[in-house]
Amino acid sequence: MPSRRSIGLIATGGTISVAPPSADSQQHQGVGALTPRQDDRPEGIDVFPRDALSLSSRRMTPDDLWTLASAVNEEIAAGRDGVVVTHGTDTLEETVYALGLLVDTRVPVVVTGAMRSPHLAGPDGPANVRAAIVAAADPKLAPYGPTVVFQDEVHVARLVTKMHSARVAAFGSPAAGPVGFVAEDRLELLLGPPPETDLLPRASPPTTRVGLLHAATGIDGSVADAIASDVDAVVVAALGAGHVSPSLGAALVRLAGAGKPVVITSRCPDGALLSHTYGGAGSETELRRAGLHFAGTLSAPKARLRALFGMSAGIPADELFHPADGAGR
Ligand code: ASP
Repeated sequence: MPSRRSIGLIATGGTISVAPPSADSQQHQGVGALTPRQDDRPEGIDVFPRDALSLSSRRMTPDDLWTLASAVNEEIAAGRDGVVVTHGTDTLEETVYALGLLVDTRVPVVVTGAMRSPHLAGPDGPANVRAAIVAAADPKLAPYGPTVVFQDEVHVARLVTKMHSARVAAFGSPAAGPVGFVAEDRLELLLGPPPETDLLPRASPPTTRVGLLHAATGIDGSVADAIASDVDAVVVAALGAGHVSPSLGAALVRLAGAGKPVVITSRCPDGALLSHTYGGAGSETELRRAGLHFAGTLSAPKARLRALFGMSAGIPADELFHPADGAGR
């Protein structure tokens, strides 16, 4: 690695950035910027901090994701060797995936956050930022697309998810585990980069409204009918390998027939969507035959962002989600 590296550090808010509690409120508001202290910065790396947003991640919108992607692109265009984004953990996995859709990561782009705010005992933010800076400074990470570095583990955007609501070891990649780790200010990669990139061939600011439905026992078509007029497309977190109740299946087919793409994902955290194993109303075979799209191994929130940004850029759902060979994308 060349001797000095230059890293853009973009703060967006979240627990990692919260100000200490005030006299009138002990609750986190998840706002504020984060500039790591000088002694948190690894040797040989210059860090250039900026605030892009100041939000708790539950407030993040597709427009905010567009703003953030633009900030990351500006840092790359400015010649940084890598970019680190600090973010609230609740929607962090969606933001890292959105960056994978919108940013050509010629250099490493790493997202991190914290589960304990700076004024609590044992805050994890400083160590997470330091490890993220180390990872972002290593050009070997660029082919992996945007990654999450948390608790010294490196996770790829497509697979990472928040696994625990409160522990500091909050993130995991159920399908394959971390692709690497950071130790002694050094990045070690264990697995190769993902086989495909998620980068969209073109990008535009978000304009498409995409709903998200969660299948469960007794969930019928009324939930799809209720949102039909408010959305341009719907993503479904379906049961198992791509199944819904017969009533929900019929409502989804009606939606698709009305020109609103329907994208099937699984509510399981791991495993494939099937194509021809089960038959009958609401089965994967029938839903595929009716022209619904299947999102492969993508989670429902990530498939929703793919539909939202892809359709906003005028890319047909058929191209965003590859059809009936069973693999999805
Ligand atoms: N509620 C916070 C957020 O996502 C949680 C965190 O940052 O860990 O912004």
